[in-house]
Amino acid sequence: MTMHYVPDLGKISVDSVSRLDAYVASREFDRPTLVMDLDRVSAQYRALKAGLGRADVHYAVKANPARQVIARLVDLGSHFDAASRGEIALCLAEGADPSEISFGNTIKRASDIAWAHAQGIRLFAADAEEELVKIAEHAPGASVYIRLIVEVSEADWPLSRKFGCDRDMALHLLDVAKSLGLTPVGFSFHVGSQTRQASMWAPTLDVFAKIWADARTAGHDLSLLNIGGGFPAFYGEEIEAPTAYASQVIAMVEARFPEARKIMAEPGRGMVAEAGVIVSEVMLVSRKSERDLHRWVYLDIGRFSGLAETEGEAIRYQFETPRDADQHGPCIMAGPSCDSADVLYEKRPVSLPLTLKSGDRVLIRNTGAYTSTYSSVGFNGFPPLDVVVI
Ligand SMILES: *Cc1c(COP(=O)(O)O)cnc(C)c1O
Repeated sequence: MTMHYVPDLGKISVDSVSRLDAYVASREFDRPTLVMDLDRVSAQYRALKAGLGRADVHYAVKANPARQVIARLVDLGSHFDAASRGEIALCLAEGADPSEISFGNTIKRASDIAWAHAQGIRLFAADAEEELVKIAEHAPGASVYIRLIVEVSEADWPLSRKFGCDRDMALHLLDVAKSLGLTPVGFSFHVGSQTRQASMWAPTLDVFAKIWADARTAGHDLSLLNIGGGFPAFYGEEIEAPTAYASQVIAMVEARFPEARKIMAEPGRGMVAEAGVIVSEVMLVSRKSERDLHRWVYLDIGRFSGLAETEGEAIRYQFETPRDADQHGPCIMAGPSCDSADVLYEKRPVSLPLTLKSGDRVLIRNTGAYTSTYSSVGFNGFPPLDVVVI
């Protein structure tokens, strides 16, 4: 990932959408480029924090690990959820305190646990006995939280099956942690990324409140509830504003977990998605036959160069072109690479101007999360997504 830093835009308007737009409009780009507005990240942090109240914000680094984004969040007082040695090293290099970084991946390399512990990291996630054994050996005495599996998710990008364990296993793991000399402090979960409405959290919180109570009855003085991510970004379907959304979630948490002395939230998408726009270009518009009702629109960015979340057409990005005032028609959208999986939207076609042609610029809105990190180093010789931070 190449990065440039533009410290000062001088005369350009302070309004954040027009700040991004003014920057983009005044420049040529010779490859797909994600432009990130740091002031928009700040605004989003403040809006989420206002709703989250006493909860600690641990930004999920994987959503966008641009160095300047991390540095800005350090300045704002954010804490961090890191998944690997690389992400921890990044946060430390940008000034985060080790006490503010959680090692939240339930699948950790033993040597990374040891390294993290040596750096001063003291809070680790686990959802299996073998992981607790690794933590006890390489980070003796550390605090651990047990990740619970979310059985039913209403999210647009669910994470459910891969992570977490069920109630009985979780209660067992609390005992195991204690017997290994670790300090079991609580539970974590993730409702699923892009959970569009706060009310969608309620069924999951109800289930976990019961498990929390059972653990306390079993003698575990739990103090930490880590509510994970799931905070949504705008992709065309209505969502609640970040402060209102976060405060509703926290109110539901406070009502169900009165003993939680510490609450952690780990927004990723909700923190950075709306702070970024991808500048891309149409490479080809074609039809497969004279009778074809749909056009095929091939962009210079695709599934392998940043738009991985179009998998299953789960996340539907918003496209903007200079010809949007013209008459529209349905298009199948695809990326440029020589792989048939590199189709973005086909089941539900995208409406684009009939006049669209190769060379036209296409802006892809609210793409600051899960794009640069998903870009291959250069599949088929297409350059990885460039990142510019303003
Ligand atoms: C990815 C991830 C997050 C961030 O999720 P979003 O839906 O982007 O907010 C939070 N916590 C953990 C453990 C994650 O893996």
